Amino acid sequence: MKTRAVVVRAVNQLSIETVELDAPQADEVRVRVRAAGVCHSDLHTLRGELRAQPPLVLGHEGAGIVEAIGDNVTRVKPGERVLVNWLPADNTCPACLSGHPNLCERFPKTIFQGWLPDGGSRLKTSDGVTLKHYLGAATMSEYSVIDQASAIPFPDDVPFDVAAITGCAVATGVGAVIHTARAPAGSSAAVIGCGGVGLSMLLGCRLAGCHPIIAVDVLDRKLEFARRLGATATINARQNDVVSALRALTRGGPEYVFDSVGAATTIASALQAAAPAGTVVVAGMHAAIKDVAIPAGALIFQNKRLLGSFYGSARPQVDLPQLIELYRAGKLPVDELVTQHYALDAVAQAFADMEAGVNARGVITFE
Ligand SMILES: [Zn+2]
Ligand SMILES: [Zn+2]
Repeated sequence: MKTRAVVVRAVNQLSIETVELDAPQADEVRVRVRAAGVCHSDLHTLRGELRAQPPLVLGHEGAGIVEAIGDNVTRVKPGERVLVNWLPADNTCPACLSGHPNLCERFPKTIFQGWLPDGGSRLKTSDGVTLKHYLGAATMSEYSVIDQASAIPFPDDVPFDVAAITGCAVATGVGAVIHTARAPAGSSAAVIGCGGVGLSMLLGCRLAGCHPIIAVDVLDRKLEFARRLGATATINARQNDVVSALRALTRGGPEYVFDSVGAATTIASALQAAAPAGTVVVAGMHAAIKDVAIPAGALIFQNKRLLGSFYGSARPQVDLPQLIELYRAGKLPVDELVTQHYALDAVAQAFADMEAGVNARGVITFE
């Protein structure tokens, strides 16, 4: 069948094309996509900065309706609403069996490259060029074929945009707080970077009962989003020395610092600012692009902990439904993260707005 999709034929070449989508294989489902989040990882991939290289169809946050299923599919039914989990673990490797399906051994050779779990693709251009499925998801498309382990059912009363961003930004941000760091109630926390992941970290801090919760960014507009979502104080990093400002607001430094950026400067600031015996959690993708020097003295002489967090240390089959239930219970206001919707044809504008810090989270919607 045909589907209109956001195609990257080569680095920095963004186009919207009608492409061919093959039928789902035995373990796969075809989803009619209704919402696709616009994430920094998509932009990094457009620029050739991450592992998956073009030609590919972009998008990895998504939610929609199952339309067709392969012969082996048991987890979902046609007509069911599903959100996309871009880490469909095999549940057989040592990482999976020891409780870390976010680190499943099959990911480097499939999902990160852009092939479906069986190593193949169901997408090609009208002139016959095979396209990869970005993160095994390729959600910036009217229709997508994904592995059944990537399809997580959710109730009909949850909006598609909420479900879509729960599958990446929210899982990554909230998970960094409650799974990676396990920050206890009453602990002081700071969040560096107030994009979709950073603001989700902030929601995670609220959920955990942290206080105070301090948001750091270079744009006042994003700090305003952070205040609305529950930050008790904000610091503009262009106008203030972040380390001394964080120490002043917490009497000696936050016990937990969550870095959603992952750049050399933010990691260094986080390590310096954290309280003695404090914890720094790095989840930002800049760390995947460029190696950074670590101020190791701060780690050793003050007994600090530096933790990495990938996909919020999630066990997606358990944690994504749990996050959806927390939203339904009013404990996780994911809907407040979505500040703008875009048509598929406006994807370039959506990326430009993301870079300019216009949105908390922008979401492409389909009709
Ligand atoms: Zn993402
Ligand atoms: Zn595995």
